[in-house]
Amino acid sequence: MTDNGKEAARELAGQVALVTGGTRGIGRGIAEELARAGARVAVVGRDEGRAAATAAELPGGGHRGYGCDVSESAAVNALVERVEADLGPVDVLVNNAGITEDNLLIRLSDEDWDRVLDTNLRGAFNTIRAVARGMMRRRSGRIINVTSVVGLVGNKGQANYAASKAGLIGLTKAVAKELASRGVLCNAVAPGYIDTEMTAALAPAVREELAARIPLGRLGTAEDVAGVVRFLAGPGARYITGQVIVVDGGMVM
Ligand code: NDP
Repeated sequence: MTDNGKEAARELAGQVALVTGGTRGIGRGIAEELARAGARVAVVGRDEGRAAATAAELPGGGHRGYGCDVSESAAVNALVERVEADLGPVDVLVNNAGITEDNLLIRLSDEDWDRVLDTNLRGAFNTIRAVARGMMRRRSGRIINVTSVVGLVGNKGQANYAASKAGLIGLTKAVAKELASRGVLCNAVAPGYIDTEMTAALAPAVREELAARIPLGRLGTAEDVAGVVRFLAGPGARYITGQVIVVDGGMVM
């Protein structure tokens, strides 16, 4: 992705961004874009080696990788302490880590429900709670949650995932209202179908059918989402909070 002229270039210079699920897919695209904007990025995934390898490949310097399961609150608290000791206070938090365990409602197990809710929704709560005190004290901060169009319109076979993503939208709005007076902004991006490992399993015929339902005629890319996250993290979004920005090529409108 190219910068929108000189003024936008490196608008996050000197800032620290923590991106969960930054090791691949959309999260990796976000980590790259925030690094291009000048931020030092803490890349978080479950495997520290993989996270460190991704961090080393980001543009610019000073990035670090961290292993942490975001569903574990004690581990997340320890993660934020480590990141702040290594890189400095977290200015931008991107809650992108997410999983699916799809099945028809009557076949969904308790474990399928818990795993998805624990990662996608509790994980975001854990990280927000861990960074909120510092952001409030500093009277600045940006929190960006990666939800999904499925959280807005539902989807067959994804009751757990849709509930987690709809929950994330409620969480976004509650946090936005609670922290606005302290200068902390919280928004969400809701991608449609984005070409990543998560959607790679779709059969070619299904992908073609999906593309035909998208007004812009193609699946999205990680960069399509990352550009919006960069905007929400930057100075141009200073009067925006509690919003859900849909990034889906016009599929849901
Ligand atoms: P991927 O499966 O490609 O990547 C998921 C990322 O999340 C990986 O970096 C993975 O890291 C990390 N992760 C998973 N579980 C945990 C955990 N418990 N703790 C920490 N990190 C974890 O997914 P996508 O890039 O496709 O999706 C990214 C986000 O975007 C998700 O929230 C997803 O729901 C959302 N989204 C995706 C869409 C799509 O079409 N692809 C559409 C709409 C929303 P590691 O394996 O290294 O731990």
